[in-house]
Amino acid sequence: MPARPVVVDTIAGIRAAVAGARAEGRGVALVPTMGALHAGHLSHVERVRDLDPAAFVVVSVFVNPLQFGAGEDFERYPRTLDDDVAKLAAVGADAVFAPSVAEMYPDGGAVVTVHAGAVGATFEGAARPGHFDGALTAVAKLLHIVAPDSATFGRKDAQQLWLVERMVRDLDLPVRVVEIPIVREPGGLAMSSRNRYLSAAERDSALALSRALAAAESEADAGIDAVLIAAQAVLAEEPGVEVGYFAVVDATTFAPVPDGFRGPVIAIVAARVGATRLIDNARFRLG
Ligand code: AMP
Repeated sequence: MPARPVVVDTIAGIRAAVAGARAEGRGVALVPTMGALHAGHLSHVERVRDLDPAAFVVVSVFVNPLQFGAGEDFERYPRTLDDDVAKLAAVGADAVFAPSVAEMYPDGGAVVTVHAGAVGATFEGAARPGHFDGALTAVAKLLHIVAPDSATFGRKDAQQLWLVERMVRDLDLPVRVVEIPIVREPGGLAMSSRNRYLSAAERDSALALSRALAAAESEADAGIDAVLIAAQAVLAEEPGVEVGYFAVVDATTFAPVPDGFRGPVIAIVAARVGATRLIDNARFRLG
């Protein structure tokens, strides 16, 4: 049984723990999360362990108020730190950084923030104004606090991943971004901390998202129109799913692909199932 990770709630504390690991010559990896951990999150820890068995693996657990809009689920977002720490012990994380909001934002917020640009205002950013500015600001802070060699981000949040990679490149942040594949439930539902909000019937309805993405991918050779028609047919059949968007974006630019596009794409979907907003995506090559 691996040792329980050290749990730290101050910036000074996690910096000291990281400095101790550095003094032993260990590399440092960061896995940023909002907690309520599931197997998807744990796969990040397993991946960085594979990449560097000696790494000091820090998992941050912080529900970042800056990335939640008014009326979203900031207050009721699940907070399960004891359970999270037990799960992280089982996969051999070294440290958990779980700061309070006051520790991260002692002045009540941030005056100078990261701006996610034009892509940050589309899709998730259009549905959740300010979301990506808030998310990137917190990610930038965590990267500055922990100063890891590598940090993991899940493909589950495809637009966030694209923006983090852009931020790292555009701002020359000295970190390697490690992309983590989507971990799914046996039926295909992408694992998410928000899945625990779903009733059994809603869980069934939510399967339409991954089914629509699979239908889209199956038409990849036929081009964008066929892809969109196939996905929309699946989504239209499921009355429990209220679609926010279904789109196919260029994996390089995150812009919707034009007619006749050939190359790597990401099909992205967002939908409301009951009161819960879910997102999912699939990567494939078009044409
Ligand atoms: P969250 O706690 O939802 O902010 O997610 C923390 C990290 O885990 C992000 O990089 C997410 O993209 C990633 N993540 C969330 N769900 C999954 C999943 N099903 N599979 C793999 N990674 C995930």
